[in-house]
Amino acid sequence: MAEKHFKYVIIGGGVAAGYAAREFAKQGVKPGELAIISKEAVAPYERPALSKAYLFPEGAARLPGFHVCVGSGGERLLPEWYTEKGIELILSTEIVKADLASKTLISAAGATFKYDILVIATGSSVIKLSDFGVQGADAKNIFYLREIDDADKLVEVIKAKKDGKVVIVGGGYIGLELGATMKINNLDVIMVYPEPWCMPRLFTADLAAFYEGYYAKKGIKIIKGTVAVGFDADANGEVKAVKLKDGRVLDADIVVVGVGGRPLTTLFKGQVEEEKGGIKTDGFFKTSVPDVYAIGDVATFPMKLFNDMRRVEHVDHARKSAEQAVKAIKGSEEGKSIDEYDYLPYFYSRSFDLSWQFYGDNVGDTVFFGDSDLESTQPKFGSYWIKDGKIVGAFLEAGTPEENKAIAKVARLQPLVQNLDELAKVGLTFAFNI
Ligand SMILES: Cc1cc2nc3c(=O)[nH]c(=O)nc-3n(C[C@H](O)[C@H](O)[C@H](O)COP(=O)(O)OP(=O)(O)OC[C@H]3O[C@@H](n4cnc5c(N)ncnc54)[C@H](O)[C@@H]3O)c2cc1C
Repeated sequence: MAEKHFKYVIIGGGVAAGYAAREFAKQGVKPGELAIISKEAVAPYERPALSKAYLFPEGAARLPGFHVCVGSGGERLLPEWYTEKGIELILSTEIVKADLASKTLISAAGATFKYDILVIATGSSVIKLSDFGVQGADAKNIFYLREIDDADKLVEVIKAKKDGKVVIVGGGYIGLELGATMKINNLDVIMVYPEPWCMPRLFTADLAAFYEGYYAKKGIKIIKGTVAVGFDADANGEVKAVKLKDGRVLDADIVVVGVGGRPLTTLFKGQVEEEKGGIKTDGFFKTSVPDVYAIGDVATFPMKLFNDMRRVEHVDHARKSAEQAVKAIKGSEEGKSIDEYDYLPYFYSRSFDLSWQFYGDNVGDTVFFGDSDLESTQPKFGSYWIKDGKIVGAFLEAGTPEENKAIAKVARLQPLVQNLDELAKVGLTFAFNI
């Protein structure tokens, strides 16, 4: 098979790849210099839409509506945009071998790609229950969600199992968002997770109590403190029941599993330095191998603000790390230096008519503020995280753009706080006065 050579190759065609392409175009690339090689069949899109509007029964989001960079209010890069810029989009092409020493990539179909500079943007894959040998986990109608093909399968089964029973395994943000979209589709939803409350990696007990109460009011049943240990299937091989560790058995027509992801680094194992499960980079997303960069979910990078190495699996970092890496690549070609990445972690989620944002770090003591009464017409509440006397993280449900900006500023500036009771009383006003 023919060999192709590009000055720059981005492996992966997700969020980071799309934002990197836009930055390459901004900085200037000649036709034929840049290629994006992606396993997916479509041009880069805003992945968060898959667990939200993509699954709505009415007015669902569909491509080309949510190609990057609309998620951050930018221009929508349609497939034609890449053609116009002379950027080659090599789709439905999985790279199965990467040899960083000889700067060669080989696809599943046997094509060879050579590069001068490689940007790794392979993202994450979902953790599957079959990885742990959970009995019956390969039954039909047990779903995971990472790519648009997975979302299409969910759309199909929602139609096929009208008014059916769904069991959501996992209480993280994917579980919560999918629980909501399934309910909006009029399915009967039960969520199961082992932790004492949902989103335990971020939520405090106070925050979680509101969301769990809200979901219960929407008719979603939540079973905590246990896990799915097996599945029963019918004669067609379709799942019909979920067996829980505590002995309970739940009827199910559909099971959706959201138990986390892992960065896709296997292609590069033993060839590049890793840290904390990701590919180690500097503040310019350069890896330990010359001319190889890593961005998005796969990168473990210096988080200047916390003086620590971190990996971040969120869309805002995917976008910003992509821009930083491309600026660094182009800057080094032109002999220009750029500032090191100085990232303030930012996560968000939306479900039903709820919407929260979080900035900073969720370590230390917590102070809850605001109104989280489920009977309120407009609940608005949040939390601060305080470490060594300073606010290091802030969460807000139902914030206006100005309020969200204010909590972002607090998390960035890390002001000292003297009195936590007082902070709880003044709540959001504290952020506005910074
Ligand atoms: C359903 C869902 C909802 C989400 N919602 C939110 C949210 O609300 N808020 C938030 O902050 N974050 C959210 N995230 C996380 C966010 O989408 C990711 O952090 C972000 O997409 C990471 O960007 P990335 O480019 O690193 O990886 P991805 O966007 O996953 O892109 C990776 C790309 O690489 C391709 N690829 C992988 N291996 C190969 C290979 N060997 N050969 C060729 N191509 C390959 C994949 O097919 C994919 O196209 C969500 C994620 C999912 C799955």
